[in-house]
Amino acid sequence: MKPPICIICDTRFTPSDEGDVIYFKKTKWDIEWEEEMERKGSVGHPPYAEWFCEKHFKSAKELEELSCTEAMKILREKFSEK
Ligand SMILES: [Zn+2]
Repeated sequence: MKPPICIICDTRFTPSDEGDVIYFKKTKWDIEWEEEMERKGSVGHPPYAEWFCEKHFKSAKELEELSCTEAMKILREKFSEK
């Protein structure tokens, strides 16, 4: 797992208090990644999971039914004027 740093604003925060990880919908690449990790018996940061601080968590949560790539496109546009 990556350290808890918001993917939108690069803020480091305390997980569950100030933000949390969101698991987006897995694409077939993500499922392949998981199988690969399982085969190798290793763990890594899932490509479909990202950290969001308190400020950005709610908006991201609304998009968790999308794949990470799709959701990030929308979120980056939404928050680009920060
Ligand atoms: Zn943030």
